[in-house]
Amino acid sequence: MRKGIAVSPGVAIGTAYVIHEIFVNPDTKLLEDSEITAELARYETARDRSAADLRALERKVDAQVGHEEASIFAVHRSILRDAAFTQKIRAWIVDERLTAAAALHRLLGEYTELFSRTNDAYLRERLNDVRDVVIRLSGHMSDVLRPEKSQEVLKGPLIVIADELLPSQVVALGDIEVQGIATQAGSQTSHAAIIARSRGIPAICGVSRLMRLVKTGDTIIVDGRAGHVVINPDAEALSAFRKLEREFFDLKDQLAENHDQPAVTSDGQLLHLHANINGQPDATASVAMGAAGVGLYRTEYLYLTHPDVPDEQEQYETYKSIIKSSPDQNITIRTLDIGGDKTVPYLGHHHQEANPFMGWRSIRLSFEHPEFFNTQIRAIIRAASDSPDSQVRMMFPMVTTVEEIRRLRGMVRRAYKSLEEQGLPTTRVPMGMMLEVPAAAVTIRSMLDIVDFVSIGSNDLVQYLMAADRDNPKVSHLCQPLSPAVVHVLHSVITACNDAGKSVTVCGEMAGQPKSFLLLLGMGLRNFSMSPAFVPSIKQLASRVSVAEAEAIFRKVAKFKTTGQVRRFMTEKVQELAPDLAILDTST
Ligand code: PEP
Ligand code: MG
Repeated sequence: MRKGIAVSPGVAIGTAYVIHEIFVNPDTKLLEDSEITAELARYETARDRSAADLRALERKVDAQVGHEEASIFAVHRSILRDAAFTQKIRAWIVDERLTAAAALHRLLGEYTELFSRTNDAYLRERLNDVRDVVIRLSGHMSDVLRPEKSQEVLKGPLIVIADELLPSQVVALGDIEVQGIATQAGSQTSHAAIIARSRGIPAICGVSRLMRLVKTGDTIIVDGRAGHVVINPDAEALSAFRKLEREFFDLKDQLAENHDQPAVTSDGQLLHLHANINGQPDATASVAMGAAGVGLYRTEYLYLTHPDVPDEQEQYETYKSIIKSSPDQNITIRTLDIGGDKTVPYLGHHHQEANPFMGWRSIRLSFEHPEFFNTQIRAIIRAASDSPDSQVRMMFPMVTTVEEIRRLRGMVRRAYKSLEEQGLPTTRVPMGMMLEVPAAAVTIRSMLDIVDFVSIGSNDLVQYLMAADRDNPKVSHLCQPLSPAVVHVLHSVITACNDAGKSVTVCGEMAGQPKSFLLLLGMGLRNFSMSPAFVPSIKQLASRVSVAEAEAIFRKVAKFKTTGQVRRFMTEKVQELAPDLAILDTST
């Protein structure tokens, strides 16, 4: 049994499918003179096949998912064509007699070394792309991606085992029945974790030595509650976990039945459970999971997967189709939240900042690119105006001061004016702020007059309040939504909004976690936005508790002085109110 970080709850048992096992044991054989030409030819064939794969994938994803998702494969093709890349591989095969696989392994090592010295998330993302290309090439040289081989391997319920899941692997997994995921690297916010949560698949990240311990074909148990992976369990463990797995599936089926029901507390208080989405597939999932709307559409994913600036028409079409796919066409669209850990080169992110999370991020960056920002605002207003049955709201990330809100309002006014001058239809789109910065929490009362609604981005608010990076495992003991400081600030913001009659939502990860959900309910919150997969269980939990009970829970918690006390008490309360939902909670 190996311990990792539980990132998506539930229990799954299946056959291990190890992705890119090639890299665990690099090829050390040196080529004979007579083998060099054949090895070069093998590499060229792999390159041709990889290019063909990528073209096919690009067409498929373009047709089935969307243009921006497909553009990643064009980026991969350009890496494959890159002259420096190919020259290095050829030189190592010819001069140093490395096999093509070993040359690829070395190249990846070089890139990793180079990129590890940068904090630039964009470059790190490019490293993932290089790695993706290298894996694809190696796959073609070692038959791993050959269809006949994969079909033989891909039978039965599968547990995907990987160092880290890459974007193209996630897309390729689309057609396969994946029961669970375990990765060696990664954290709560890694790609694998987000995908697993949005699909409701149990997952564990950060399991050390996983890639050395597991082979394709092994039997694996993923325990997404406790954060354990069991490799080739004995009969006793297997039967105990089978029981848990059955419970997990029964519960999921049973919960999915509440899909058409509204979310109400045991004393009849209506709640609004919305979904956080990054693109079209999540919008579809939010309908399937019974969310009442989309509370946060992170538009930056459109830009992150785009090789250049998406123009107004393209943005308009994307927004329009996402509005159409959202539950009841009710959606809150967030403007570009780039910077911090997400950068795009075409917006001037060329140099590294010492503190990117406290630097040139979100609206701070948008203000410096007024035309670009205006394009997005116009595209949102046009998409809303051309969707007559929709309720679209627009919100701005990382708002820190009143002056910023005034400036934003000015920009929105000008966007309306330009659309009207062109004779285009314009509906009024409510304008809200994300509350993620402690300064805004302190001055919230002076901001409420000039915004239509507030959405609390607790992921960022917690990291800024506690001065503890949300992605740094070394300070994760501090970056805790259940800490007394966070509880205090959340309560004061929610109260200020309720007093002013302004709609307030929490859209950070905590909104979908049973312990913090109960606490937020007790603070007076009625709007929650979460990963689509969490909607059914939170709906169920809501039905077991009255507003008065939740308020009593909050009053008690407000007196606690440590995070440990809050967490223990909330764990007990969830256990008391909904023991059957415990399997859907994670220990972390
Ligand atoms: C947040 O900060 O809580 C939030 C929802 O935004 P993101 O996770 O995209 O930063
Ligand atoms: Mg945020």
